[in-house]
Amino acid sequence: MKKISIQFLSPLLIIILFNSIIFQLQAGSPTPKKVNKPKNIIFLIGDGMGTAQIYAALTIKKDKLNIAKFKHIGFHKTYSAKDYITDSAAGATAFSTGHKTKNGYLAVDTNKKVLPTILELAEQKGLSTGLVVCCAITHATPAAFIAHESDRNDYEDIAPWFLKTDVDVFIGGGKQYFENRKDKRNLSDSLRKRNYQLVYDLNQLQAVTKGKIAAMLYQDHPPSMLGGRGDMLGKSSSKAISVLSQNKKGFFMMIEGSQIDWACHNNSNDTLIGEMLDFDDVVGIALDFAKSNGETLVVVTADHETGGYALTENTLTDGKPSGKFNTKGHTAVMVPVFAYGPGAEEFMGIMENTDIFFKFRKLLFGY
Ligand code: MG
Ligand code: ZN
Repeated sequence: MKKISIQFLSPLLIIILFNSIIFQLQAGSPTPKKVNKPKNIIFLIGDGMGTAQIYAALTIKKDKLNIAKFKHIGFHKTYSAKDYITDSAAGATAFSTGHKTKNGYLAVDTNKKVLPTILELAEQKGLSTGLVVCCAITHATPAAFIAHESDRNDYEDIAPWFLKTDVDVFIGGGKQYFENRKDKRNLSDSLRKRNYQLVYDLNQLQAVTKGKIAAMLYQDHPPSMLGGRGDMLGKSSSKAISVLSQNKKGFFMMIEGSQIDWACHNNSNDTLIGEMLDFDDVVGIALDFAKSNGETLVVVTADHETGGYALTENTLTDGKPSGKFNTKGHTAVMVPVFAYGPGAEEFMGIMENTDIFFKFRKLLFGY
């Protein structure tokens, strides 16, 4: 027995010694770790962002678009459980739970059964989690990661879900749904009791450097870029990344360019371009962090295309295309998926929107 264990022991010792040398080399090296699986995921959703919207922005930026830096690119099919054309609630539920559901439903199946979300799974596994948006935080896309409701429009029913999951950082608008409610509850007081730092403007947000953050920067939705939103989404995303990345176990966060969709619903070319360029700046912030960190997967996609946006004019005015819209609603077309970092190669080819959930879960948790 003794002989066998010594025979096993000596190669084992060599392996341990070798690994410790490798580890020391890595620790002393300024280049980021090379890993196969991400510790962190930054998931960016450009609501309503199709290929024509991206190409308009690419044209204006003379190819210097952050989205153009991705090498791993695919498409996903956006249809929902009952409809060829999805809405944002069913679209975000596909990403957050891996299930196609009815339009209007948030993280429940077609029978209204609660579905666990990737954000809730991340919380259970000890990761930090975050939601950063430029709409009310109770709006469909962020809500599908934390709330389980069959009516996306009932913001006052959605808000209390932020007390049920211990999301570490959430930033957006929608203060009124927490503090000025028909039922007279003040949800912000309840958040404070759960150790959240309540933040109401960007200056206050800059001053917070760690811990849990509930930032409600507007009563309802923030304005559009043309309406003066400024770099609210960029500053909020940078802050969330710097706070969430303090967790050694990793983090999952969703950042939404919420108003690309609204610009397209309004068939406003200029508003759309403002929103696209803002969203691309935020993609750049995520990519910069991922490049220096080395253990972060960045995935950028849309829930669906909005407006049937088409570049049908053969001229540019000051380098700017004037796209035309074919509908005030959403369309059924595939939308692109861009990935960078460990696991990025998983996001190539044509996939279902629900596959994005399963890929995230496999990469983060191994199943
Ligand atoms: Mg949305
Ligand atoms: Zn929409």
